[in-house]
Amino acid sequence: MAWDFSTDPEYQEKLDWAREFVRTKVKPLDYVWPSDQFKRPYADEVRAIVGPLKQEVRDHGLWATQLGPDLGGQGYGQLKLALLHEVIGQSRWGASIFGTMAPDTGNAEILAAYGTEDQKAEYLEPLLGGDIVSCFAMTEPAGGADPSQFTTRAVRDGDEWVITGDKYWASHARWAEFLIVMAVTDPDAPLTSRMSMFIVPKGTPGMTFVRQTGLWGETPDDGAHALIEFRGARVPADSILGAPGEAFAVSQTRLGGGRLHAAMRAIGDCQKAIDMMAERALSRRTKGQLLADKQAVQMDLANSYAQLAQFRLYVLYTAWQYDQCHDWRQVRKDVSAIQILVGSVIHDIARRAVHMHGALGISNELPLMSILHGGEIQALTDGPTEVHQVVLSKLLLRDYTAGDPVWPSEFLPHRREQARKDLGLV
Ligand SMILES: Cc1cc2nc3c(=O)[nH]c(=O)nc-3n(C[C@H](O)[C@H](O)[C@H](O)COP(=O)(O)OP(=O)(O)OC[C@H]3O[C@@H](n4cnc5c(N)ncnc54)[C@H](O)[C@@H]3O)c2cc1C
Repeated sequence: MAWDFSTDPEYQEKLDWAREFVRTKVKPLDYVWPSDQFKRPYADEVRAIVGPLKQEVRDHGLWATQLGPDLGGQGYGQLKLALLHEVIGQSRWGASIFGTMAPDTGNAEILAAYGTEDQKAEYLEPLLGGDIVSCFAMTEPAGGADPSQFTTRAVRDGDEWVITGDKYWASHARWAEFLIVMAVTDPDAPLTSRMSMFIVPKGTPGMTFVRQTGLWGETPDDGAHALIEFRGARVPADSILGAPGEAFAVSQTRLGGGRLHAAMRAIGDCQKAIDMMAERALSRRTKGQLLADKQAVQMDLANSYAQLAQFRLYVLYTAWQYDQCHDWRQVRKDVSAIQILVGSVIHDIARRAVHMHGALGISNELPLMSILHGGEIQALTDGPTEVHQVVLSKLLLRDYTAGDPVWPSEFLPHRREQARKDLGLV
């Protein structure tokens, strides 16, 4: 019977190495340059440290492990990746140092699947090498959760496509060598074939950054999520990724994996919050007792452990399911369910940890508010919780059929009557 929760010893060694490496060599970057991981070009002093760290990851065969061997990854599969992401997720710089940073990972997968040989040479290779960053521009000011609201247009004009419209929340656009932009190419087509994807190189005339929106707590200069105006921005005809109208299919290449990887990294953050809670409970005294002796604190710690354990197993199980079928559509239900859970799991655990640390918990001298805030971000970024609830509910209902509108099939008087017949009692 194949049902096994163990990690093979060889991979466990790699995980152990990664854990120690993140703790001793990557986390220091979080403290010194907390927001510089996406910025390009790196400052000289950052490059001098980050380059050798990335090389160490490569030397240990853990660089960009989400990619297949054809793209320089190890082909480990999602389950192994999940275990690694838990470790990487403990550091803000982790994803960057291990070559698993969004949106670059998903964009690399799109380029690998749909890019021309020239585009692969120009963008994919440096992206895989971690030398450049990229951007995925889909959301528009009128709404990100509903693609039917998108109005950015791309019109064919001779050997070029001409793009006009606004994109918002385009993460890392200000540092990106290229953007992957979703635009309407056939407004009269059904939604799923209305849009196409384009590569837009940085500095393309007609593309203007209006604002760099930041997240709460960041200074205006730190904003990394661009509002972009495209006003007749021209790109060559072969900038289209996939066939015209294939944007939905192209984006599927990235979405499933991206969502699960973010959930995996959240496990690392939650574990950090639990570790901090435990240390505080054993260290702080109030009313003559350690916090650890207070029942409410014990409940918070125990509930956090239980909540994270079930979430973690669900993420690992979903990763394992993907490894069996290699088709994100087949695990869509569970990916959506994880997206529904992730915000509240992070919120619940981080909030308990914040409270256990009192005022220090909400200060900028501990990472707990950043974790709490991260939960809210994660509950929106890869599609709002509510949208995943709608999607999951629709998928679930597909497996059921309607019954009698008055008497449910589990109506006990009917069941009893049938059981009597089946048992030969009437
Ligand atoms: C940190 C961060 C980074 C991001 N990076 C990128 C990026 O790189 N590229 C990119 O394209 N986008 C990016 N986004 C945008 C993100 O994808 C959108 O925020 C998300 O899709 C929601 O769109 P919206 O913010 O316009 O909210 P809306 O679409 O306006 O939705 C707002 C709310 O309305 C409710 N709602 C919406 N639809 C439904 C529904 N069907 N049923 C019930 N309730 C509903 C929900 O409560 C939802 O939260 C990023 C966002 C964040 C916060």
